[in-house]
Amino acid sequence: MKHDVIVIGAGFSGLAAALRFVRYRKRPLVLEAHDRPGGLSSWYRRGGRTFESGLHALTSFAPPDDRAAPINRMLRQLGLSRDLLGFLPQSGARVAFADGVELGFSNDIELLRAEIASRFPGEADGFDRLCAFAREADPGRMRPGGSAREFVAQYIGDPLLASMLLFPLIVYGASNEHDLDVLSMLIMFRAIYLEGLFRPAVNVRELLGALVAAIEDGGGEVRFGSPVARVAVNSGRVEGVELPDGGFVPARMVISTAGLPVTMKLLGRREEVESGRISFFETQYVLDRKTAAALAGTETVYFYNFSGGSGYRCPDGLIEPAVGSMCLPHRFRGREGEEPMVRVTNLGNYRRWKALSRDEYVAAKEDASRQAARFAERIIGPFSDGVLFRDAFTPVTIERFSRRPGGAVYGSPEKRWDGGLGVDGLLLAGTDQGLVGVVGAMISGVNTANRMLLPMRLGELRE
Ligand SMILES: Cc1cc2nc3c(=O)[nH]c(=O)nc-3n(C[C@H](O)[C@H](O)[C@H](O)COP(=O)(O)OP(=O)(O)OC[C@H]3O[C@@H](n4cnc5c(N)ncnc54)[C@H](O)[C@@H]3O)c2cc1C
Repeated sequence: MKHDVIVIGAGFSGLAAALRFVRYRKRPLVLEAHDRPGGLSSWYRRGGRTFESGLHALTSFAPPDDRAAPINRMLRQLGLSRDLLGFLPQSGARVAFADGVELGFSNDIELLRAEIASRFPGEADGFDRLCAFAREADPGRMRPGGSAREFVAQYIGDPLLASMLLFPLIVYGASNEHDLDVLSMLIMFRAIYLEGLFRPAVNVRELLGALVAAIEDGGGEVRFGSPVARVAVNSGRVEGVELPDGGFVPARMVISTAGLPVTMKLLGRREEVESGRISFFETQYVLDRKTAAALAGTETVYFYNFSGGSGYRCPDGLIEPAVGSMCLPHRFRGREGEEPMVRVTNLGNYRRWKALSRDEYVAAKEDASRQAARFAERIIGPFSDGVLFRDAFTPVTIERFSRRPGGAVYGSPEKRWDGGLGVDGLLLAGTDQGLVGVVGAMISGVNTANRMLLPMRLGELRE
């Protein structure tokens, strides 16, 4: 067999899994349906500019000397230098709810602590206990499940504060509406509040290019425009994958990062797996420098919910402009010279977008971007008159470029935390393994590769 493992999908989880195999001098073959890497977090060109699709901010910030930090461990396991990510920290983040209630946080947990102590004085002790739990708990020993809302209520008595604290964690990672499970909450609490947000110094295209190059330099292969049509299984063991032209690529090991619903279809299984209803509509507004300089606030990332409820649900209309997250990439430290931009992400209803005719779709995008700006302007002040260029993408676009049914950004609500699908030699990695976001996806890819490599490494030791 020419390849030691086949990886389905060249998103961040698939590339990380393949690179981990390369580190052990194994030859992975990555098969990607699209013509470029990145999946949910890729790039595209419009109006002479390069736009990034996912990735507002990376989670899990860590200083270089924290060797045990998940991101540093992951980079070591992939043989990547920290210089590749560049670690440009956020200038700060803010959660804004109705009636002007706001909470700031940064990569130093003391800011959030101080904000809670001044705005919700009776809750400071509970917050400290919640932080202590998040620091000390061992995710490896926790069972997935349970409601994060109910769990956090044991520490935080004020429902408004509990909702505000949970909101960024939900927006950055919940595949369910309204809530997320306790294990996901713990992972996101650490990644966002205790560790923090940053972005790479390079753009996503360069970052992905570096990962692909590292795989190919190490003897692996990445094929684009190469969708997998079927995963072949014989007597409960994976045998390889079939391509749409009927070609067959044999392999004893396959890692699928295509998500649980798609992987079930590739296996020819009939079980119904919920695809997920959480998808996004995103508008990227390129601003003139004068407008950008006059914007209010100094934060890089904002999370807002002016809906009055949990806000995190598939909207009835095309989008829910009152609920979203916003990123100003030129406010990451070290990016101040970049062309200023505001990226606004709102919840979107895939079915509503999908039902539109071509003309309706184009007009609806215009309208939705205008609505989105109105709510964003409540926080950072007016910018619509200073927009040099604007582009938007919908849940339908997300589905087209990631192949995630319904454009479900955080995948199926049904997770397979152990990656198992009941087939020897086949594991699921990435979003539907429960680890979301770019860093989560990469850690999932590394962990999955490690599980597959372990028996091989033990075998080599015995030989
Ligand atoms: C608008 C938006 C904003 C986001 N913001 C952030 C953020 O700020 N920070 C953050 O960390 N994360 C963010 N994310 C989420 C992040 O992009 C994802 O969690 C992460 O990229 C998931 O990676 P993955 O490898 O698990 O899956 P994917 O990226 O979905 O990769 C799966 C790959 O498999 C391929 N594939 C599917 N089926 C097949 C097949 N049959 N054959 C071959 N290939 C196949 C797909 O084409 C795709 O490339 C955002 C996402 C979106 C859409």
